[in-house]
Amino acid sequence: MNFTIANWKMDLDLNQGVDLVKDFKKMAEREKDNLDNNNIVIAPPFTHLFSISKILSDSKVFLGAQNMFWETKGDFTGEISPKWLKDLSCKFVILGHSERRMLLNEDYFHVHKKIIAALENDIIPILCVGETRIQRNKGLKEYVILNQIENALSGIDLKDSKILIAYEPVWAIGTGLIIDPEEIEYMSRIILQKTIDLFSDKNIKEQIYVLYGGSVDSDNIESFMKYPTIEGALIGGASLNAKEFFNICKKANQFKT
Ligand code: PEP
Repeated sequence: MNFTIANWKMDLDLNQGVDLVKDFKKMAEREKDNLDNNNIVIAPPFTHLFSISKILSDSKVFLGAQNMFWETKGDFTGEISPKWLKDLSCKFVILGHSERRMLLNEDYFHVHKKIIAALENDIIPILCVGETRIQRNKGLKEYVILNQIENALSGIDLKDSKILIAYEPVWAIGTGLIIDPEEIEYMSRIILQKTIDLFSDKNIKEQIYVLYGGSVDSDNIESFMKYPTIEGALIGGASLNAKEFFNICKKANQFKT
């Protein structure tokens, strides 16, 4: 499989976002054969979802959200229900992004509950994991990632659902630094092994997919998508330009069926 996911974060105002999606849709329609293996997801801010869901309603591009709450209704000021995302045809939700973990104290206890809620509401979670530069320099990289996955996913009833796990080294996000593609492959194998151990009764091949995120662009996407265990990318900065995001999707498309 192949998932190319745009995370707009808190960038692009509504008009800019609408223009980008319209431009991207035109390019995608013109060259649809070059995108046919790709599950493309655009995750705008909450306030843009309604308008963008209308534009995407007759296209193959999926809509995603950047977060959600773990309950569907109630006294939770400022939160967004998974049901409402579903009403807007959101098929994916990014959970546990490092920016939320670092700036808003979101931890994997919260993420765990959100993953359960996403699966119950038929939304595919994109779980973000990644070590900081300090953790890495202390030799804790593997430990940190395995621990994050354990906390987020243990005890989850996977049923027939899919979960995407985006390996995003925190120090590579938005910095222009991209790690050695062989290291991305190595981490994808560790992550897959961990999920095999956690969901030992499942054939996770059809259910768990590992993605990479961290300064991905159209120049470096091919360097890691060539590995069979890496099945997509989560893209921040480079997804804010329709043409650049389109080029990334097109290049990623060649590698997977
Ligand atoms: C991200 O936001 O998850 C991300 C990977 O950002 P960027 O591509 O800008 O590094």
